[in-house]
Amino acid sequence: MVKVAVVEGDGIGHEVIPVARDILAAVRPDFEFFDVEVGYGLWERTGCACGEETMAELRSADAILFGAITTPPDPDYRSVVLQIRHDLDLYANVRPIQGGDVDIVIVRENTEGLYSGIEWTEPDRACTARVVTRRGSERVARYACTLAKSRRHLTVGNKANVLKSDCLFVEVCMAEAARANVPCTARYIDALCLDVLMHPDRYDVIVTTNIFGDILSDAAAYLVGGLGMLPSANIGERHALFEPVHGSAPDIAGQNIANPIAAIRSAAMLLRHVGDPAAAAAVEEAVRRVVDAGIRTPDLGGTAGTREFGAAVLREVGRGK
Ligand code: ATP
Ligand code: MG
Repeated sequence: MVKVAVVEGDGIGHEVIPVARDILAAVRPDFEFFDVEVGYGLWERTGCACGEETMAELRSADAILFGAITTPPDPDYRSVVLQIRHDLDLYANVRPIQGGDVDIVIVRENTEGLYSGIEWTEPDRACTARVVTRRGSERVARYACTLAKSRRHLTVGNKANVLKSDCLFVEVCMAEAARANVPCTARYIDALCLDVLMHPDRYDVIVTTNIFGDILSDAAAYLVGGLGMLPSANIGERHALFEPVHGSAPDIAGQNIANPIAAIRSAAMLLRHVGDPAAAAAVEEAVRRVVDAGIRTPDLGGTAGTREFGAAVLREVGRGK
């Protein structure tokens, strides 16, 4: 029995996650789902966005389907997503950029780098430490190499010409790639951002540090129709969390116009993770057929609502059975 924790979160999480969950439940009626409340809404009511009890619930799940959490610029509020990634030790953030001829997978280091949480402020200075460790780099590099082994090659996005922390990251990634016998190239992240957009065919698996991976994947979303399209998996030794790359998008929340494809594709990644690649492929194929039939949300130039798009995918999935 696969136990799936469902966290809608905030904003459009309340709209796209129910759609993804219904599709999961349709292809795997045997899954057990349970809701977990986390986020800004909860924090406003209780002063705690994600406590120890909540973490225990998340830990008890085989996989987590996650929406998005609003991180307000409130100094008392610690980013919940960062807390969960850290506490569950979800070290690899896997972000496939796929559509048309584009087939790239960005693997973002997820626990350290500029998001290590080592920050302090002084009266006229504010500092954030960028910590890169050998262990942190090794495990994400190993994950990326395993992925690249069954594909084509690996690119290491970095800024080692300026940052000492990236010298270590590149050194470790190149060593892991050599060990795994994976062809590997190091590229500076700024040039890489441009080149990925101009020549996506040159790229396959890209491994990079935390914030570079975040920025690169939002930019690469341009290649496949925008932020509403990108799913992601956060992978650890014991836990795994699946979420759209986009955030809670408060500007469009509550209007039934958010594109649920990123969330649905995240559910497909969850299916693959728990060992059901056939169901994952069926869900992805159903999304493709619905889009090809011209049913699209406004961000893709259509007029379909979030729920209507979801219902169309559900029908398609049912037909495929
Ligand atoms: P957060 O603070 O939670 O990251 P955000 O304001 O940065 O939220 P994002 O969700 O990261 O918002 O997305 C940026 C913009 O992209 C949104 O304001 C929204 O207009 C658009 N967008 C994001 N996701 C979707 C989606 N699923 N469908 C349609 N448009 C989206
Ligand atoms: Mg955002």
